[in-house]
Amino acid sequence: MATVSETGTLNPPQIRQTGILIGDEFRPSVSGRTFQTINPATEEVICEVAEGDEEDVNLAVHAARSAFETGPWSRMDARDRGRLLNKLADIAETHLEELAALETLDNGKPINDARAADLPLVIDCLRYYAGWADKICGDTIPIRGDYFCYTRREPIGVCGQIIPWNFPLLMTAWKWGPALAAGNTIVMKPAEQTPLSCLRLAELALEAGFPPGVINVVPGYGPTAGAAIVRHPQVDKIAFTGEGATAKIIMKEAAQTLKRLTFELGGKSPNIIFADADMDQAIAGAEFGLFFNQGQCCCAGSRLFVEESIHDEFVEKIVSRASRRVVGNPFDTETQQGPQVDQAQFDKIMHYIQRGNAQGAQCLTGGNRVGQRGYYVQPTVFSGVTDEMDIAREEIFGPVMNILKFRDINEVIDRANRTFYGLAAAVWTRDVQKAHRIAASVRAGTVWVNCYDVFDAAAPFGGFKMSGIGRELGEAGLANYTELKTVTMKISR
Ligand code: NDP
Repeated sequence: MATVSETGTLNPPQIRQTGILIGDEFRPSVSGRTFQTINPATEEVICEVAEGDEEDVNLAVHAARSAFETGPWSRMDARDRGRLLNKLADIAETHLEELAALETLDNGKPINDARAADLPLVIDCLRYYAGWADKICGDTIPIRGDYFCYTRREPIGVCGQIIPWNFPLLMTAWKWGPALAAGNTIVMKPAEQTPLSCLRLAELALEAGFPPGVINVVPGYGPTAGAAIVRHPQVDKIAFTGEGATAKIIMKEAAQTLKRLTFELGGKSPNIIFADADMDQAIAGAEFGLFFNQGQCCCAGSRLFVEESIHDEFVEKIVSRASRRVVGNPFDTETQQGPQVDQAQFDKIMHYIQRGNAQGAQCLTGGNRVGQRGYYVQPTVFSGVTDEMDIAREEIFGPVMNILKFRDINEVIDRANRTFYGLAAAVWTRDVQKAHRIAASVRAGTVWVNCYDVFDAAAPFGGFKMSGIGRELGEAGLANYTELKTVTMKISR
C-alpha cells in the first residue's frame, strides 16, 4: 500500500501577484470579482485572484495591440528580443526555488519534480527560443521573369494563449518562447486552478525589461475570460492546450474571425513492451510514463500493451512498484506522487476506476482515495483490460495504469492505432527492426523508443488526429507564430 508521508514541509512561497497584468500594471478586475485558488494537498484556499472577464480582456487586447503596432516592441531588433528572453530565463533561474514552490503549492506536484523537471524545462525553453529570435529568415525565390522575389517571416500579431493546469509554468514557457521570439504580443489566460506561477513569471518578465503590453495575463474562467479572448476581433491567433471538447468550442467560435489556431490536446498513448525488451528499464519506463505528474500528462502511456510471454511477470513487477510509490505532502522531498489538481479531476478519476471494475478489469493495486484531506488517489493498476473498456478508450488523466495483453507486432500496431487520439507512443525492444516498424506505423506525433517523456525545447511536440493541430517546440513551433509574406519586385534590365 502506498504510504502517505507527513514530514518535510518546506515554507510555502510568498504570493506576490494575484492581479490581472495589463500593460505594465497588475490590477483588480473591472468587475471587482475574484476567485479562489485552492491548495490541492489541503483543500484550503491559498488566496483570492482577480477574476478577469470580457472587459478585462478588451483592455488586455488593446494593450497587446498597441505594443504590437506602435510600441518599442514593434521597432525592436530581433537580437534584442532574444536578449530579453535570455534575461527572463536568467531571472527565472535565479528564482527557481520560489517558482518551483509556487507550482507545488498551486498544482500539488511533488517539489522534486517541479525543481528537477518543470523549472529546468521552462528555463531551457526560454533560452532555446531566445536563440531563434535573430535567425527567423525568409528565402529568395527564383521566379520567372525580371523580378526579385523573396519571403519574410513576420509575427502574426496578438496571440491569445489559453493553457491548462497540469504544467502551468511549462505551458507558459512553451507558449511565450516562440511567440515572443517571433515578435508577437500576448494575452494569456492561465487555468483557473493554477494561475499563480504564470502571474509571477509575468512580473519577472517586466523586471527583465519586456515593454508594457507585450505580455498580458488575464486569470479567470474559460467560458468568460477564455471565450472573450477567442471572440475578440483584434486577436489574430489562438494557441490552446487542454481538452478536445474545449478545442471544438474554440474552433467554432474562432471561425467567426478566422483566427489562426494551434491545439495541443489529449491522448490515449500506447506504450508497447515487447518480450525482448530490457525488463527493468521497461518497467521503470512504464511507471514513469504513466504515474509522472500524478498521471496528469497529455502524453501519459495510458494503454500499456505487454507481450503475452512476459505479461504475468511484468504485471507482478509493475504492481509491486506502483504499490510502493510514496504518495503524500508534495513539499516532502520523499514524495513521488502528490494530490490531483482539484475535486473535479479527483471525481473523474474515481469514476473511471469504478468503470474499470464494473466492466471487468482486475484492479491489482490501489483503486481508492488516500487519506481524508487533499485530492489524493492511490496509484492504481488494472490488468485484463480490453480495447472496448472505457478505461482503455478515454483520457483518465490520473494515476490509473491499464495493462492490455498482445500476441504479435501486427496485432499491436492495429490496436495501438484504434483510437481518435494520436499524441504519443512508446516501444520497448532490443530489436531495431521492431523499433523502426512501430515508429513508422503508429499514428502519433511523438514516438519514444526505449524511453518515455523525453522532452527537449528543440524537438517538436504535438498530435496527429484529434490530439491536436500544429506543433509546439522546435522550429515547427516557431513557424506557427509567423506569417509568411511574399515580396516581388520588378527589376529593370
Ligand atoms: P479545459 O480544456 O477545459 O481547460 C483548458 C483551458 O481552457 C483552461 O484555461 C480553461 O479555463 C480554458 N477554457 C475552458 N473553456 C473555455 C472556452 N469555452 N473558451 C476558451 N477557453 C476555455 O480542460 P480542464 O481543465 O477542464 O480539464 C478537463 C480534461 O481535459 C482533463 O481531465 C484532461 O482529460 C484534459 N486535459 C488535457 C490537457 C492536455 O495537456 N492535453 C491538460 C489539461 C486537461 P478554466 O480555467 O476555466 O478551466
